[in-house]
Amino acid sequence: MARRVVDVLVPVALDRTYSYRAPDELKLAPGDIVCVPLGAREATAVVWAENPKPDRRLDNRLKDIEDKLALPPLKPELRHFVDWVANYTVASRGMVLRMCLRMGEHLGSPRARIGVRLAGARPQRMTAARERVLALLADGMVRGKSEAARETAVSAGVIEGLIDEGTLETVVLPPEPIAHQPDPDLAPADFTGDQSFAAAALKATLAQGGYSVTLLDGVTGSGKTEVYFEAVADTIRRGRQSLILMPEIALTAQFLDRFAARFGERPAEWHSELTPRRRARAWSAVAQGEVSVVVGARSALFLPYADLGLIVVDEEHDQAYKQEDGVRYHARDMAVVRGHIAHIPVVLASATPSLETEVNARRGRYRRLALPERFGGQSMPSVEAIDLRRERPPPGRFIAPPLAGAVKTALERGEQALFFLNRRGYAPLTLCRACGFRFSCPNCDAWLVDHRFRRELVCHHCGFAVPHPPACPQCQAQNSFVAVGPGVERLEEEVRELFPQARVLVLSSDLVATVERLREELDDIAQGRFDIVIGTQLVAKGHHFPKLNLVGVVDADLGLNNGDPRAAERTFQLLHQVVGRAGRDAGIGFGLLQTHQPEHPVIRALIAQDREAFYDAEIEARERAHYPPFGRLASLVVSGPDKHDTQSYARLLARAAPPRDDVRVLGPADAPRSLVRGRHRLRLLVKSPRTFDLSAYLRDWLAAAPKAKGSIKLGIDVDPQSFL
Ligand code: ADP
Ligand code: ZN
Repeated sequence: MARRVVDVLVPVALDRTYSYRAPDELKLAPGDIVCVPLGAREATAVVWAENPKPDRRLDNRLKDIEDKLALPPLKPELRHFVDWVANYTVASRGMVLRMCLRMGEHLGSPRARIGVRLAGARPQRMTAARERVLALLADGMVRGKSEAARETAVSAGVIEGLIDEGTLETVVLPPEPIAHQPDPDLAPADFTGDQSFAAAALKATLAQGGYSVTLLDGVTGSGKTEVYFEAVADTIRRGRQSLILMPEIALTAQFLDRFAARFGERPAEWHSELTPRRRARAWSAVAQGEVSVVVGARSALFLPYADLGLIVVDEEHDQAYKQEDGVRYHARDMAVVRGHIAHIPVVLASATPSLETEVNARRGRYRRLALPERFGGQSMPSVEAIDLRRERPPPGRFIAPPLAGAVKTALERGEQALFFLNRRGYAPLTLCRACGFRFSCPNCDAWLVDHRFRRELVCHHCGFAVPHPPACPQCQAQNSFVAVGPGVERLEEEVRELFPQARVLVLSSDLVATVERLREELDDIAQGRFDIVIGTQLVAKGHHFPKLNLVGVVDADLGLNNGDPRAAERTFQLLHQVVGRAGRDAGIGFGLLQTHQPEHPVIRALIAQDREAFYDAEIEARERAHYPPFGRLASLVVSGPDKHDTQSYARLLARAAPPRDDVRVLGPADAPRSLVRGRHRLRLLVKSPRTFDLSAYLRDWLAAAPKAKGSIKLGIDVDPQSFL
């Protein structure tokens, strides 16, 4: 009799499924996680579909599925999601599946916890240590082996000895749960009018069931988190799982504590810094439905939830939601897709929604719930510009007198001040005063950034680093180097000179060794252990610093003029968020923006606190240019070590683009970062109408185009966020 045949998807860079024979005794069904022979090795794979009409001539060539793993099968919902994401992003299905199977090799073998209890016979020889152990276990209860040793201050050998003599017996304990069940009714907030309206609306949405998208649109500190916690609480009451996505998981310590204060327990965490063992356990706990709330980075979207009932995307506008390598997906957009497929509500929270989301809300595709006021009646910080054309900092300095004066006043009042400068290191450029030589990266077209703390010149694109040379490599002049422009380290020198008494902390991703350390430093700021904080965008996100009332933006123009279609939107969001750190608890928040272009629409909107005016203008500009969300974009980046070969391939590729009236293919052109890590980069930009199936077009194009050969690589980015 002919064997049953199933098609399996393997988590490698392949789009298609492969047929295998399915031995009856394995009782296989779609979604089952299996072990298959693949070439010379064995691979974990997932049964994707029944193959009802296999080609019987191949029967003898097909291999058997070897084994079924003792894991819950991937639900149809997740398999559908994998297919959808792969199709949309023009990635291979295998690579998307791989994101769902990120549990590592440790899966299925959680280290068993061994417990001990009293079994009877007293040992022949008694010691003080043994006495203590027997006293502890006299009640007949089971204790973990290591707990028993720890509590009685004996070595593991003492316990082992008692087991060998038969005084104690061992018992296998279930593993510690990855997260305990949160209590939805522990500490609900006492809501204000707007808040209770929003919370009730979310609860009604959950009660109604089905897919929906709600934009929780409220200024920083308006209680968005408290409000969506109500939706999470309701989801827990319904016995379903919630996913809360965060842009930067390293920065969520405060959030986890807050969650624990509201629900009694911390949620399960999911991010790249989990140990392999914890990752495996979290994965299976999510799959078994043992975890009811997951807080995670974008990759948490691909977990095999047993019964997902709600997705919240916090700070939905954040750029960190876009994955820029491997499968290039936007986690906010894919969260909406997953919600649609799973028929569940999605909540997007932001004080400065992305333009895409704002347009969807204006057009009624998303429902908007507004929280226009800060909780506790604090007013939003007032914002003023410092016109650097008139108020010049002293030569070689970057803090203009009005900003220095404001910080002085804040310190005198016992308040904190934040200097925001989104640039790591000491100075972005170093040149030789004698001959004009500039230090640049040998692998990239980028200047080397002076990092004095590390005593190196560093490339921010490829990590290339050299120690500070004693003399100019070109003219051999000694002591001739000049640092041009400020980074946070240089700003620190200036701040320490201006405010010698102040306790100063510099927060920059390259200065903090670990996530733990960062969490401690953020906590130190919140506790008021520093007077002045100098920070990059690390400080902009989601923190609550009660003593901080003044935020000074050292270079508000940074990022405004870089040719990126989203430059204005990003700068607006970032500066709004940074300034929003001020005055959240007591006192009056104040933001000062140092700028050379105070008349720029972004700066004007920040000062006037007129968000709507900014969106109106930006939406109009995008519409005119047919930029997203009014048109679609995809970018193709061709890169290779040889400039000529890379260019020729990029041109061949461009010529193979299927001609269409409504699709424009621009380029190839040198990318703004035309050399990175020794690879030349060229970009093609594809523009289409909003409703056009750009993914299908790209697939057709690639199928017809010559393949990239050798070391030339082609990267495809649908809905690109980066244009570098
Ligand atoms: P957002 O998420 O909009 O920035 P949060 O939810 O973090 O706002 O709220 C800001 C601060 O105000 C938090 O410390 C929060 O606990 C507090 N808060 C907000 N709403 C309430 C409320 N109704 N009762 C008590 N505290 C509240
Ligand atoms: Zn470099």
